[in-house]
Amino acid sequence: MNSYTIVNPADESIAETIEHVGVDETDEAIARAVTAQKLWAAVDPADKARMLRRFAAAVDSNRENLAGIEVRNSGHPITQARWEAGHVRDVLEYYSAAPERLFGQQIPVAGGIDLTFHEPLGVVGVITPWNFPMTIGAWGFAPALAAGNAVLLKPAEWTPLSSLRLAALALEAGLPDGLFQVLPGRGSVVGTRFVTHPDVRKIVFTGSTAVGKQIMAGCAEQVKRVTLELGGKSANIVFADADLERAAAAAPSGVFENAGQDCCARSRILVQASKFDRFLELLEPAVAAVTVGDPTDPATEMGPLVSRQHHAAVSAYLPADAPVAFRGHAPTGPGFWVAPTVLTPASRTDRCVTDEIFGPVVVVLPFNDEADAVRLANDTQYGLSGSIWTRDVGRALRVARGVESGNLSVNSHSSVRYSTPFGGFKQSGLGRELGPDAPLNFTDTKNVFIAVD
Ligand code: NAP
Ligand code: MG
Repeated sequence: MNSYTIVNPADESIAETIEHVGVDETDEAIARAVTAQKLWAAVDPADKARMLRRFAAAVDSNRENLAGIEVRNSGHPITQARWEAGHVRDVLEYYSAAPERLFGQQIPVAGGIDLTFHEPLGVVGVITPWNFPMTIGAWGFAPALAAGNAVLLKPAEWTPLSSLRLAALALEAGLPDGLFQVLPGRGSVVGTRFVTHPDVRKIVFTGSTAVGKQIMAGCAEQVKRVTLELGGKSANIVFADADLERAAAAAPSGVFENAGQDCCARSRILVQASKFDRFLELLEPAVAAVTVGDPTDPATEMGPLVSRQHHAAVSAYLPADAPVAFRGHAPTGPGFWVAPTVLTPASRTDRCVTDEIFGPVVVVLPFNDEADAVRLANDTQYGLSGSIWTRDVGRALRVARGVESGNLSVNSHSSVRYSTPFGGFKQSGLGRELGPDAPLNFTDTKNVFIAVD
């Protein structure tokens, strides 16, 4: 198939048909990027910074437009989509400071001066998933451009529209032609070509663990740099001494945001056994209160799933005899709707406990003591995020250090912050995105010794 027809997930109306690029067009884009990168690397640091700030300003003045596109293409609630567009602006602004701050070191050695430089890699390929197209794209392209690279971005087949708009805004803002290109197409065609083409020097991949492993294996062939942000099945651990009312009130936002299509979703709620029943009593009204419906309505908190196919995949975890404790609401009629659903499986090995469902489905399980909580939280191949609810500061720190996961929050479900590092332990990923050091992940360190004698 050489094109993909986008369906609005909220009402199943046809939004647009997007032509796919093939291998030859991908190769041409890579060649243009190689040329553009050499010119970009030679641009003065302050001018690079200025151009990135102009790109940020263009995103800022098109926030409403970008948000509207994401509502139509991905079914994101408008309030969330506006936040996403603002986040792209913020990420660009944050990394616009980097070109003037790519500091190397001067290291004391005998007989001369020793200097390090952070050299750009060249062309970077960013492959994004469909759940947060704009924000995840920006986590790759903003620091990569700031470090002097060119970027090719392949959006997920289902959700290319906001990324295509961002590429147009980059050009309008004055970024050099060819420096940041968005190539809509299939993962098996465009994504694979990024992996096999020798002029693409790094892959930043966000998506499923299965495809991430294939990409890592492919990159090994050329010792290509790779960052992987993969799946998750994160734990929200509620101790008996926690503020149970607050923990229960916050739990839905920790898992049902973006209809659970979030790699950081706290999709396993672990509750200390002595407060298990009380917690469920408090959780039920909080789940019932989640406003699910028309994504264009600013009051909507949760929209539909992204596609018919994904709806079927999530529904497969909810057969008639699923251990449903209670459900929230969802519209009926057209659109890919699933109501927020709370499961209380009898076994810790049920597939709803172990698999990443990537929909508005959460399991609640009891634990005995602190050691059991940590063991249960870590009983997964994943390790992306998690939350800990307790009033005991020592316990909060012990458990935060004990959970094998890249991003934890205490008495909250912190979302991703661009100024702090983000990424996974175990099979949730490799490397880190965001935070102050992200541009360095798009460079190689060069050491130069100058003899003075
Ligand atoms: P996916 O199937 O792995 O696809 C992700 C991207 O990779 C898409 O652009 C896809 O293109 C492309 N792709 C597929 N096969 C490829 C191949 N052989 N070579 C190169 N590229 C290929 O994942 P998804 O279903 O879109 O996204 C859901 C998954 O992403 C979940 O598991 C979720 O946890 C994970 N995720 C992780 C994070 C994180 O930061 N850790 C964030 C968001 C999502 P097509 O669209 O053409 O298939
Ligand atoms: Mg896929």
